[in-house]
Amino acid sequence: MDSIKIEMFRNILKKEKKRVQAEIRSMEKENREVSQDFDSAGDNNFEDQIGDSASITFERERDFSLQQNRKDILRQIEIAIDSIDSGTYGICSRCHEPINERRLKALPYVEYCINCKKEEENY
Ligand SMILES: [Zn+2]
Repeated sequence: MDSIKIEMFRNILKKEKKRVQAEIRSMEKENREVSQDFDSAGDNNFEDQIGDSASITFERERDFSLQQNRKDILRQIEIAIDSIDSGTYGICSRCHEPINERRLKALPYVEYCINCKKEEENY
């Protein structure tokens, strides 16, 4: 891949990294606000709150897995940026063949080429 394209991907990845970091920050902020609301409610009306607390637990778990998902993406973005620095960007980390450029444009931080991805999923 030529250096102009590499720089283009580097810029895309840096922007994506900032965007994902901002998302993680705002999720963490929201989580704190939810737990404060819940704590300050006290335990009067405890029975009324059982339903609420169940849904809060559910939402927390859902937020947590969303957050986890964002953190995974962030990790993949960091790996991709590192691989640009070490000159191995766009190489499938499983079969070591170049990843299709159209695939990289759609998902600049993919680790695997389409064939390996399919094999992983079937596995
Ligand atoms: Zn591959």
